[in-house]
Amino acid sequence: MEEIEVALPDYISVLRKERQPRFKALKAYSVDFDPTQSFDVLMEVHDKVLSRFKDGEPARRTSGGSEKHAVATLNKSGQTLLDLKLALAGKMLDSCRLCERRCGVDRTNGQKGRCGVLEPRISSEFLHFGEEPELVPSYTIFFSGCTFECVFCQNCDISQYPSRGEYFAPKVVADLIARKEPSARNVNWVGGDPTSNLEFILEVLSISATNLPQVWNSNMYLTEETMKLLDCVIDLYLTDFKYGNSNCGERLSKVKDYWEVITRNHMMAREQAEVIIRHLVLPHHVDCCSKPALDWISQNLGNGVRVNVMAQYRPMYQASDYPEISKSLKTAEFLEARNYAFSLGLNLVE
Ligand code: SF4
Repeated sequence: MEEIEVALPDYISVLRKERQPRFKALKAYSVDFDPTQSFDVLMEVHDKVLSRFKDGEPARRTSGGSEKHAVATLNKSGQTLLDLKLALAGKMLDSCRLCERRCGVDRTNGQKGRCGVLEPRISSEFLHFGEEPELVPSYTIFFSGCTFECVFCQNCDISQYPSRGEYFAPKVVADLIARKEPSARNVNWVGGDPTSNLEFILEVLSISATNLPQVWNSNMYLTEETMKLLDCVIDLYLTDFKYGNSNCGERLSKVKDYWEVITRNHMMAREQAEVIIRHLVLPHHVDCCSKPALDWISQNLGNGVRVNVMAQYRPMYQASDYPEISKSLKTAEFLEARNYAFSLGLNLVE
């Protein structure tokens, strides 16, 4: 428990009802903006207002601090900082750059990018008891589609089929969250990957009254713009740190610049919020991936994040086409990675 409190004090405070989830304060923070202005102009407004907002953010405590944001008076138009983020997320769909694939397609006009996601489709939603101990039960909302194409995907029936599942209106999802609230410890946005559905998620939050912390469960291949829009929305990043270099990312997940993007975004995530990092050990990738990834975490994030070194690898999807990952992980390989993480003094999920 002590390790959890060291890395996740704000998350624990929200669970104890000592704080609100962060997005709630955004909904009470007034901003004047003209939604017809360009993305760049609105992003400039966003950055300035967000910086002011963060200066006063300790006021988000529901006890022991002032309630400055919570009682902020709305302007005539009733626009809030969350509305501004929502407007910006919508504009990003015109020439999609939600993730670093930067497809540039107009998703509002039926054009599909590499992830293939158009309208958000939910493949399942339920109380998940299989996540890290500090998260369960977790109200997990699985979107179809993913920004990665991992050849060993353990979830390929969802991630590689973006049109599977069902469309639910934002109000329906907000109601589902309200219904799960008494039993859940958090709302866990996942897939596939949630990135392609940022606008939808912000829309749900704009009409949700939930007091559950918001978890962004992602491969972290987001653009900087998308990361900025998540700032002060997300309470806890639950990330996958898969590879220790960009070559393995390109070969096994079909993405460019894996290392540069993922390390940048982990730094941004840690500055914004609290973080649990998952690292799935892959067969024959302990030296090229597990050790460099764990080294980087140790040197840059240290004990301030929780790290889950995972042994669940199974050769699924197209893994049989890649000889080194075509068999299950050996116990000795997992132990080598796990012991290495231990030797670095990381804050490990047991
Ligand atoms: S979210 Fe999808 S469409 Fe948008 S840039 Fe990423 S892969 Fe392309």
